[in-house]
Amino acid sequence: MRPWQQDPWRWEDDAIVRACHSEGEDRWQVRTSETVLYPEGGGQPSDRGTLGGVQVLDVQQDDEGVVVTVDGPLEPGRTVAVRVDGARRFDHMQQHTGQHLLTAILHGRFGVDTTSFHLGPEHCAIELATDRFDDALRAAVSDAVHQVIREARPVSWRDLPTGGGAAADLAAEGVRSRHLPSDLEGPLRLVTIDGIDTNTCCGTHVSSTAQLQVVQLLGTRSIGARGIRLDFLVGGRALAWMAEAWRRTEALNGVLSTGPEGHVEAVARLVAATKQAERTVRHQRRQLAEATAAQLASSADRVLVHADPGADLGTLQTLASGVASARAGAVLLAMGDGVFLVAGPDELVAAVGPAVAAALDGRGGGARGRHQGRMGAGADPEAARRILEDALGA
Ligand SMILES: [Zn+2]
Repeated sequence: MRPWQQDPWRWEDDAIVRACHSEGEDRWQVRTSETVLYPEGGGQPSDRGTLGGVQVLDVQQDDEGVVVTVDGPLEPGRTVAVRVDGARRFDHMQQHTGQHLLTAILHGRFGVDTTSFHLGPEHCAIELATDRFDDALRAAVSDAVHQVIREARPVSWRDLPTGGGAAADLAAEGVRSRHLPSDLEGPLRLVTIDGIDTNTCCGTHVSSTAQLQVVQLLGTRSIGARGIRLDFLVGGRALAWMAEAWRRTEALNGVLSTGPEGHVEAVARLVAATKQAERTVRHQRRQLAEATAAQLASSADRVLVHADPGADLGTLQTLASGVASARAGAVLLAMGDGVFLVAGPDELVAAVGPAVAAALDGRGGGARGRHQGRMGAGADPEAARRILEDALGA
């Protein structure tokens, strides 16, 4: 059994530096005698901490043993102190053991199999071979998991020698079938939650289900034919999530002027009111555009120019329709919030549209008597007007 497997709570150690070579800027790869640093594997991220006083950036395992990447050089032959980042290690122990328990409860009590496990820097997730995870199942799973947490059941681990009879040994031990980690070598390692589950695993685990503290089940989403993915948090992560949820609730109490029980209703009311307001604004914009069109059409100018920095393209189009119906054959140059529109006789607009767009430092396109697009910071509305007047005079 490797040191981190024998005692996952041992976070301080000494090691002899065997080799050290530079891996580019501020990165060195170090090989040492056996240490307590956990190398990435079995779905569990690698440890952080310090080795001989320099920061551990990564820990991996290859054919020759463990490779530790650090941010400073270490002298081969020297004995150095190893310090595991205990908060990170304990977090991984909680998430990993929590997953064992969740998977065992889902399988044993609810007949739902786990097909994969992901331990991310923020969330954990398991993939479940089911298309159903409703509120009743969620509550029942949570109850069953917390019952086992309250029972403070011991979690233990031991090696099972491999060989020709490994499969039979596993069956005799009552180990649930599960994919063995691809990097597993040497004897099989069994992790047991007393009375609940025995499983093969090479990760680090807490010693009692009580040390899981709490398991927070989060959202699910479909992963197609494979089933669903369930996000969850264990222990410290769940407590931090709850503290954050409380902070957001407090903030919403202030913003919405109601307690948590009124949040959904208050937000639904706001959404409905916003939609109503948007409808009203659209209606009034249309009315205003029609009135502006009538006013523009009454002018004797050959080119009608209108600039409204607040107008969107839809408003400019309404304006163009209004002008066209009031004074057929007029040429309109309308500019809004970063957008422009030229409207008039088909041939004229098709001929000068691109030049007008260029004068407005923009690009656009169009058809059937309209040319529209975005205009840039270097727009020259007077130049655009002259282009249209010249075209009309020709
Ligand atoms: Zn495990």
